[in-house]
Amino acid sequence: MITIKQQLCGQCGLCSGVCPALAIILHSWGLEVDQDKCISCGKCVTVCPTGALT
Ligand code: SF4
Ligand code: SF4
Repeated sequence: MITIKQQLCGQCGLCSGVCPALAIILHSWGLEVDQDKCISCGKCVTVCPTGALT
């Protein structure tokens, strides 16, 4: 399960760009991960430059 620290997210969009399951949605208020779509590949965690995803 992916946990988001919204206060660390700079809204760069890198994570949603690499997600193979299209599970990450960037909203105006922040980031949302659709846990039902997520296949726990870890790509978003690796690519995030601010460590907002764990
Ligand atoms: S762990 Fe993989 S499938 Fe899940 S949100 Fe991150 S990039 Fe997408
Ligand atoms: S890669 Fe990190 S900083 Fe960029 S939108 Fe995703 S969570 Fe936010």
